[in-house]
Amino acid sequence: MKKNVLQDFDMIGFQESLVQWYKVNKRDLPWRNSQDPYKIWVSEIMLQQTRVDTVIPYFIRFINKYPTIYDLANADSQDVLKQWEGLGYYSRVRNLHHAAKEVVATYNGHVPNEPKKLGALKGIGPYTRGAILSIAFDQPEPAVDGNVMRVISRVLQIDDNTSEPRVKKDFEKYVREMIAKKDPSSFNQGIMELGALVCTPKAPQCHICPVQKYCRAYENDVVEQLPIKAKPKKQKTLQYIVLLIRNANNEYIIEQRPQTGLLADLWQFPMIPVDEIKLDEIEDWIDKNYGVKMVLGEKKGELKHVFTHIIWDLEVFEANTLQMESDSNDWKFVHRRELRAHPFPVSHLNMMNLLS
Ligand code: SF4
Repeated sequence: MKKNVLQDFDMIGFQESLVQWYKVNKRDLPWRNSQDPYKIWVSEIMLQQTRVDTVIPYFIRFINKYPTIYDLANADSQDVLKQWEGLGYYSRVRNLHHAAKEVVATYNGHVPNEPKKLGALKGIGPYTRGAILSIAFDQPEPAVDGNVMRVISRVLQIDDNTSEPRVKKDFEKYVREMIAKKDPSSFNQGIMELGALVCTPKAPQCHICPVQKYCRAYENDVVEQLPIKAKPKKQKTLQYIVLLIRNANNEYIIEQRPQTGLLADLWQFPMIPVDEIKLDEIEDWIDKNYGVKMVLGEKKGELKHVFTHIIWDLEVFEANTLQMESDSNDWKFVHRRELRAHPFPVSHLNMMNLLS
């Protein structure tokens, strides 16, 4: 830890102002009605990289479908993936499902309250571990994500690059010292809530901030300059042709993505990388790679799918085949009305609006 960052900082005053503000101003969110570690865990995983408004209906549906960790552990993986459809970052739900099975098998269905055991579960990193331990088990453990780093970098006026893992570790040490030992749950949630409602990335509302009098960035008029972040790398664009191949039964060819990697296990219409193949070679390419004779039809539209590191540029074409059955394990024909029973990435769900 850097020396002196917390020297002369009024920790008690900061804690009291933050916790008191949180108790009065916290939003009524469905996962806040419970201290059940399973529900808190589900909410924290959903909230990673995803806005609260988006998460609320997913959380309610997920918990209705899997009210206990046993329900989730015993569920079919494709059903679980379907519940997550549209939320993105699908490795989150695969890890959650895997870890739920482990908790049932190893801990008799009780989410472990020891940091080491909890942190060893798949998909539980330091942030989620701290959130579960503090919110469900009242343990004074830090839960530091990007929001928390923004608030703390302003309050303590720290100009280190918050994109560096080493700096994140420093912030965890600061929060571990700052955390209210009497009510760590309200303290951690208070910082998160302050970051979401008041100390926002752009135009923070310092004039109504409950911790303004402790905030060094405010005092020194450098709020707009913090936090320091490295510029994100430019996303790489990948171009694909997507084929909506239909037979006379109104069935479409869909295939399941590999078990690991981007959008693992989800279903999609066949995607052909444009840098490998040209449009006038597509019919031969599909014959060779899918064993399907088809006739390319008209272009139905264009879509984009933006991920963290890449962008898919998708040109969508319809195509027709006389084939009625698949002789491959890699793809299958599915009737149009059955398509939505499978979990699809959002870009391919949107393509269903382009079906004739
Ligand atoms: Fe953030 Fe402004 Fe409050 Fe400081 S005073 S914590 S910069 S909102």
